[in-house]
Amino acid sequence: MEPKNSPRKCGGCDVCCTRLAAPEIGKRADTPCIHLRRQGGCGIYPIRPPVCSGYLCLWRQGHGLPHAMRPDLCNVVLNPDLPGKRILAVCPPANPTAWRRRPTLRQLIRLRDRNWSEGVGVFPTCGARMWLLAPRGDLDLGEVGARTPIYFELRSDGTAYAEKLPDPAEDVRIEAYAESLRARLAARNAAGMIWGEAPRAA
Ligand code: SF4
Ligand code: SF4
Repeated sequence: MEPKNSPRKCGGCDVCCTRLAAPEIGKRADTPCIHLRRQGGCGIYPIRPPVCSGYLCLWRQGHGLPHAMRPDLCNVVLNPDLPGKRILAVCPPANPTAWRRRPTLRQLIRLRDRNWSEGVGVFPTCGARMWLLAPRGDLDLGEVGARTPIYFELRSDGTAYAEKLPDPAEDVRIEAYAESLRARLAARNAAGMIWGEAPRAA
């Protein structure tokens, strides 16, 4: 999904074209895009859709990440999900703990520590499985549904709290559901606390 005007080039990497969901073009996560060529690279590159031309994984953005963190080399896509709220470290189904390997884990810890006080969490994910990194003990969130909102706190003592909130039911109006979430968060002394919806498309 190579965009224009970024400090780095994708080079031989096209991992996001398989690993990530892109609902705008009907692409599911962990499924090769129909436009991905057998020999690699996008088959419609000059006319690729905006969701692709505008995408930058964190490695493409820079962030002091070394070359070894290019997604095809480390097997993890650092995805700036819900910008300003959450960094996803998206692993392949065949290697769900790729995020624990060197040099990836060291880089994830660096990103975690750099963003902690801003309330930006680092979440390794694989399929529906999700973790939250914390200095004083990572949280295993287990299976997280594609539309499951996650409420989380990054605390100043280095601990984290996370909770899966109920999925919006089909017969519940979205606004009413959002209002119930807002009330729930307000009741928790919301200073410095944030929440976001799970990223993957169904
Ligand atoms: S359209 Fe091209 S750039 Fe976009 S996901 Fe498919 S192969 Fe990748
Ligand atoms: S995962 Fe990053 S480096 Fe790889 S193709 Fe996508 S944007 Fe480029």
